[in-house]
This record gives sequence, C-alpha cells and structure tokens, in this order.
Amino acid sequence: MELAHRTREVKPSVTLAISAQAKAMQASGIDVCSFSAGEPDFDTPEHIKAAAAAALAMGKTKYGAAAGELPLREAIAQQMRQEEQLDYQAANILVTNGGKHSLFNLMMVLLNPGDEVIIPAPFWLSYPEMVRLADGTPVIVHTDASTDYKISPELLAASITSKTKLLILNSPSNPSGVVYTRAELTALAAVIVKHDILVVSDEIYAKIIYDGIEHVSIGSLGQEIFDRTIISSGFAKAYSMTGWRVGYLAGPAELIRAASMVQGHSTSNVCTFAQYGAIAALAGSQDCVADMLQAFSRRREVILQMLKAIPGLDCAKPDGAFYLFVNISRSGLGSLEFCQRLLESQQVAAIPGLPFGADDHIRLSYATDLETIEKGMERIGKFVHELI
Ligand code: GLU
Repeated sequence: MELAHRTREVKPSVTLAISAQAKAMQASGIDVCSFSAGEPDFDTPEHIKAAAAAALAMGKTKYGAAAGELPLREAIAQQMRQEEQLDYQAANILVTNGGKHSLFNLMMVLLNPGDEVIIPAPFWLSYPEMVRLADGTPVIVHTDASTDYKISPELLAASITSKTKLLILNSPSNPSGVVYTRAELTALAAVIVKHDILVVSDEIYAKIIYDGIEHVSIGSLGQEIFDRTIISSGFAKAYSMTGWRVGYLAGPAELIRAASMVQGHSTSNVCTFAQYGAIAALAGSQDCVADMLQAFSRRREVILQMLKAIPGLDCAKPDGAFYLFVNISRSGLGSLEFCQRLLESQQVAAIPGLPFGADDHIRLSYATDLETIEKGMERIGKFVHELI
C-alpha cells in the first residue's frame, strides 16, 4: 500500500512508546522504575471527577459546539485575563483534545508548504513532527547548558529568514525545566515584533514552577507582542488530568475561528462531560494544584540530590515542570543505547534525549512517587558506576 509521503517524514512518539513499554513490563510482573512519561501519578482531584460525573448524569452526552462549551471557554478566558494579564474573551479560546491537539490545529491553520518554524533545542519531541505533518519546515536552533538551554534574542534574530512564520517557546520547558524570565521574554518579544513573526507559547507547565519564581506569558508584555502571540495549554499537568484530553488554544479571534473550523472537520468537540470537569477545575479551590506542586518540589529535591551523588552525570536544577534533563556524555553512549541498556539491565525506564534534539542527554520524569525515585536512582547509580 502506498501511504502519503508525510508518513515517511514523521517519527513515532518515543515518550508514548517507552511509557507504554514500561507499563507493559510492569503488567507482566517486572519491577520497573519508570521515569518515562510526563504524567503526574496523582488521581484527578475528587471535585473535578464529581463535576464530570454530574454532567454525565445530567445528560451532557451529546455533540457540543466544536470550539467547546461556552462556560468553559469563558472560564479559560477569565483565568487568562486574571492570572496571565492576557486580554482574551471566549471568542479567543478553542477547547481541544489536549495540549498536543491545540498545537496540531495551530500548525494546520498557520503553515503553508515551506514555511519555517523556529524550535529551540532541546524541545518537546512532538513539535518538529507536527510542523512536518502540516508541511512546514522545522528550523532547530541548538542551545545547551552554557546558555541555560535558552534561546537568546541574538540567536533568534540570526535564525529568522524570509520564510520564518513562527517561533515555538515552551516555558517552563519540557525537557529542560528552564523558565524564561520577564527580561528574557521582553528581549525575545522585541525581535519577534521587529521581524513581524508569530510566537506560540506552550504554557502547559505554567502552574508547575518552584521556589516562587514567576511565570510570565510573553503575550502580556505589550500590545504588539500580544497581537503576535498564540497560547497553547491544558489541564493535564496542573490538575492531573492527562487521560481526559482537555486542552486549549488561545489567540486572535480570526485564528481561533479557523482552528475551530479545522476541528469541526476532524474531531468535533472535546468529550462534552469532560469539559464540565475542566470547568470545575478552574472554578474550584486551587489547593489541589498547590498540594501537587509541593509533592513535585519535594521529589525534585530528592532526585537532584541522588543525581548529584552519581559521578559521571550532570544536571542543572530545573525551575519548573517535572523533568531532569541529565547530561550523559561522560558515559560514552548515545542516549538511545543508554536508555535501552538501562531498561534491560536495571529495569529503569528513561527517555533518550535524541528525539528532543540532544543525544548527549536523557530525560527523567519525577512525576512519580518517592519510593520509585529512590529505588530507580540507586539503580541508575549502579548502572553508571559499571559503565564509567
Ligand atoms: N508530554 C508528556 C511527555 O513529554 C506526555 C507524553 C507525550 O505526549 O509526549 O512525556
């Protein structure tokens, strides 16, 4: 069978593949310590589940508006006005099947063949694939520990060509955990405005930031940058709702109308009663978010401390999200081989850095319990000790 050319260009999602492999090994009785998927181990808070169950009982079981239930779009817009200083109304919001889907919809409505999308590396592995699926051209801009894994205004300016359409920013970042400061975002915004390109800010980890560091949304830094900003976010990480598939895209009404049209011909609305759970997430107490953040914060301390005790591995302290991005270059192995051997010999699942644009790194998700962290890090220590 001859498949479309675009399927040849695209690689499978390694995060999903390794997470599924770890889960399958666990199901078959193997004692696997999994640092794979970025998926909080907590159950969804009770009041959110209760709201979805009530909506289900009330018959919210039919098709809804493709763009999402109006009360949810209003609640998201209100939250963005209040917490992020972004002047959005319901017309600026599209409810999507998770953050991944909001980015995918965005690429579909923005990109023409050959349009370039600047992606600072290390990046979340789905970004370049989505760009390719929409016939765009990913332009990978490398950053490393010496630049704090951040793109500078100079590097951004040097990467812009006449074909550049969009920059993808992700703060806090998956996989590096870095958080851009207000000053850094202001400098990047100036370049974006000067060259009249667009930016999509993936803010899925906005509520998972440590040590009181502020989250700044680049779109809040002035009217000119606001007009060129699109936000992608969702409920999965902050409210532990990964399986619900509720995300959103926010931006200029014209773009949201177009993305809603694409969605109307592909998935239609997000599961109707799930959207009522999301409304409860925004309307209810935010203590659950704070409690989970506190747990992540404790885990971050423990995993970092254990990592630092392993000679041969290096890692910067992440300011947000729930990943350690670990430099493994002293092991002499590429990240795929490192992870494969780690899984086979020590039953520890980690994600190779290669699909994130950094083959000399691996990613460890610490969105897992302390017992797994302690046991898994001991095993990693043993593995590295035998290797180096
Ligand atoms: N975004 C999460 C991760 O990076 C979930 C898996 C995925 O969708 O790639 O692990």
